[in-house]
Amino acid sequence: MMRSIVLFAALAALSPSLAMSQTPPTTKAPWDDSFLPPAPSWQGASQALIRDRADPWVTAFEADPGHDFSPDYVETRQWFDRLDAASPLIRIEPFGVSPEGREIYAVIASKDGAKLDPGKPLLLAQAGIHPGEIDGKDAGMMLLRDIAFNGKAGLLDKVNLVLIPILSVDGHERSGAYSRPNQRGPRIQGWRNTATNQNLNRDFLKLDQPEMQALKALHARYRPDLYVDIHVTDGMDYQYDVTYGFNGEDGVWSRSPAIARWLDATFKPAMNKSLEAEGHIPGELVFGIDEHDPKAGLSDGGLGERYSNGWGAAAHIPTILIENHSLKPHAQRVLGTYVFLETALKLLADKGTSLRAAIDEDRALRPAQVLANFVADDRPTATRAFKGILYETYHSPASGRSEVRWLGKADPKPWALPFYGSHPTLTLKRPTAYYVPSYRKDLIDRLKLHGITVEPLASSQTLPVEMLRLTDPKLAGRANEGHVQITVTQVTTEARDWTFPAGSVRVPTDQPLGDLAILLLEPQSSESFFAWGMIPEVLSRVEYIEPYAIAPLAEKMMAADPKLKAAFEAKLAAEPKFAADPEARLAWFYRRTPFYDDRHLLYPIARGK
Ligand SMILES: [Zn+2]
Repeated sequence: MMRSIVLFAALAALSPSLAMSQTPPTTKAPWDDSFLPPAPSWQGASQALIRDRADPWVTAFEADPGHDFSPDYVETRQWFDRLDAASPLIRIEPFGVSPEGREIYAVIASKDGAKLDPGKPLLLAQAGIHPGEIDGKDAGMMLLRDIAFNGKAGLLDKVNLVLIPILSVDGHERSGAYSRPNQRGPRIQGWRNTATNQNLNRDFLKLDQPEMQALKALHARYRPDLYVDIHVTDGMDYQYDVTYGFNGEDGVWSRSPAIARWLDATFKPAMNKSLEAEGHIPGELVFGIDEHDPKAGLSDGGLGERYSNGWGAAAHIPTILIENHSLKPHAQRVLGTYVFLETALKLLADKGTSLRAAIDEDRALRPAQVLANFVADDRPTATRAFKGILYETYHSPASGRSEVRWLGKADPKPWALPFYGSHPTLTLKRPTAYYVPSYRKDLIDRLKLHGITVEPLASSQTLPVEMLRLTDPKLAGRANEGHVQITVTQVTTEARDWTFPAGSVRVPTDQPLGDLAILLLEPQSSESFFAWGMIPEVLSRVEYIEPYAIAPLAEKMMAADPKLKAAFEAKLAAEPKFAADPEARLAWFYRRTPFYDDRHLLYPIARGK
């Protein structure tokens, strides 16, 4: 029933004349029939978690006959408000407002009352950063309900839970049947980007969006011991239903090696055992490298700090990215997520002390060199065993080439796939500090929002610093996330005495978030404010000199300086294009006068000495 109503609404939106019609259309469009590959049939012990429709606390997901529904923002909030009113363990905490004016809220589950005991480990589970991928909301509703009423309150004896049911609330309400073409349910899904068309899972470093700024403030308030960011995949088919990963998995290099070791050795084996006991098939977070050749290999998908898991590793916050498999039914994914969250709570209760020791170990790291700008490896670094799905290829008259057809049956033979990791292409030295001028308060505010300690200058100070001259800045040819990115691969350093006005800040790198400060403030870092195009003013040169002024001045300069004259003549001889360009010739001299704009390409954030 719901589907035909939705179909009618969608067609009505397409055609004004249909909107006036009294009877819904009777024919289905091709996209309303299933076109996705089949999913293997599934049964698991976790199905017993679903409550009966007669239960007064049944969730909308559970009440739906096909378990293929997820409630909208208002219905979700009403349900949580009821839960908050009925259970002393549950409390709703608003923590932000979206661009369209919706309240963003967390649901706190705790035995501590209003103030959470910082001695207890805390799990922060976040759903709906990509709102079409909403399994975590439906799983979280069930789990919180079972904590409140169904015998699972003991989960909170030694641990606290903060659930964000929907982070991208505006995207969640841009909903319909046609949001996630590669995903099997729920039948109404939210939209990937925010109202301002931003992807929040690219905003973890630049902190542009109100939703992300609110999230960072929530992180600062609760300092989670484990942060779980819940998504649904796109991409290749495989047997796994719950895949998850973290930077540094399987001994791969990470900015938080002790945390990665804990997740590898303590968390993962117990989590996988628990998921398997409930009938799920856990797998590692991997991405196929060639959609036309499923056996070509797997990649780690990138480790950048703009993503939750990349930021978590840089900020030394244990962060797991869940990617439930898009071709598995919504119900199977929700139940897998429930098991994941419940198991994570138990693991934090049992092993939280050793996790905190790992966090402390990583927060004490002060590497002399910070690796950055990771890119995919050209060659595989390992082989991974993989539970594949059978497939065939066929010639598609639509694409005119060979396409993969997934057959929905598990391949009984395990695959051995080459694994492609990432490697750094930039090594940054750790300076003692940076200085950010007061007039970039917007950047200073973002550093503070990150939790980076900054030391304001109470009065104007002239300081010996190292400044960077950008040699080859290049603007991107297209916009990305509301920015035009700028790359610079070469810089030269200049020792200067520079005056920083009152209100400028010193950013010491001898702090737990020192690596993060370096990644944000070094212009060559692909995750920096500069790389996001947030300091473009440095590219503009001001003032010029008229030809009638520079030409005689240049002639005088040559007469006064034979070395300069020789250098000019050598350039003329070597570069015919330069020799034929009067403006370039005059500019060559202008650059060698004190009239030339000294701040052109001089990066305004300095390294401390
Ligand atoms: Zn996602």
